[in-house]
Amino acid sequence: MSGPIPNPGILDIAPYVGGEHSAPGVTRLLRLASNEGALGPSPRAVEAFRAVGAEIHRYPDGGSTRLREAIGRRFGLDPARVLCFNGSDEVLHLLAQAYAGPGGEVLYSRHGFLVYPIAARAAGATPVAAPERNLTTDVDALLARVSERTRIVYVANPNNPTGSYLPADALARLHAGLPPHVLLVIDAAYAEYVTANDYADGTALVARFDNVVMTRTFSKLFGLGGMRLGWAYCPPAVADALHRVRSPFNVSVAAQAAGVAALEDLEFQERSRALNEQSRTAFTDRVRALGLVVHPSVGNFVLVDFAATGRPAEEARQFLKARGILVRQMGAYGLPDCLRITMGLPAEMEEVADALGDWLKG
Ligand code: PMP
Repeated sequence: MSGPIPNPGILDIAPYVGGEHSAPGVTRLLRLASNEGALGPSPRAVEAFRAVGAEIHRYPDGGSTRLREAIGRRFGLDPARVLCFNGSDEVLHLLAQAYAGPGGEVLYSRHGFLVYPIAARAAGATPVAAPERNLTTDVDALLARVSERTRIVYVANPNNPTGSYLPADALARLHAGLPPHVLLVIDAAYAEYVTANDYADGTALVARFDNVVMTRTFSKLFGLGGMRLGWAYCPPAVADALHRVRSPFNVSVAAQAAGVAALEDLEFQERSRALNEQSRTAFTDRVRALGLVVHPSVGNFVLVDFAATGRPAEEARQFLKARGILVRQMGAYGLPDCLRITMGLPAEMEEVADALGDWLKG
């Protein structure tokens, strides 16, 4: 054999396959496969995006200064401890690059976000999955798998694709059980949707401890998935390490401008959140009334289990696709009987529930 050989672990990575973008022969698409915001982008973000057009020959501000300050104002955080990234996927990878590596282990929950094992392997580390209880992160199962080789524990809170979350006290208990050398990464991509009183996004833990990071995204509630914009709130030493490994101009001029405008559009954020709650509640009720199992979710998506129908979930997915409704298959997550359906507008979700009803009759 000749030619360059990738590093150990690289060829063990199952490439991440995103949600579908098209369906042959269908002109009107309902794209509910990638947990994007149902309302589209904030009009103010679109305006800011357009306004930077004349400046795209310029490199962006490598420190994303205005954006970090706007995040600090919006969420009450010290901007010096906020870093911005090309999507939160980027920071999940960079954390593995900076803190895990050959000989190290990266721990996550069985149905945690797929990027965690990919980031671990890309960094040369070994991913270790802990079992869950009722499709929810199991703190004791995670703690039982911590070893002296453990470098990072990734927890999505709320979790994609299960929609479940860990209450603040459980998250604190997870942190308290970790040795100080282990970095706890709280991936709070869906935090802005959650209204449960016992939920905490992780900010308080980051403020108090040196081994906790919280990551966030503009791809969901803020409706900027196509801009690729994420951020992290870090202890000073982690911020320093991330600055060293990130690429110099990792957030584009357009993403910085759109991000600042989206943060200022509080009305849009509240409308997105309220509408999501309305869609999710109504859709969950209707689909349960059809006899399907819908797992409780606090995010902008639900996981629907088709096992009890005795028919493959994939058959339902293809049926929806033929009507232009794109949803996500869950085989890659080890949940082949389930489909994950992103919440669109209430009328759109009526259409999806109607289609599921038709499939069940067929
Ligand atoms: N974390 C979780 C739990 C997610 O579901 C996603 C999006 N699928 C991300 C992180 C990545 O988001 P982005 O890179 O768009 O910021």
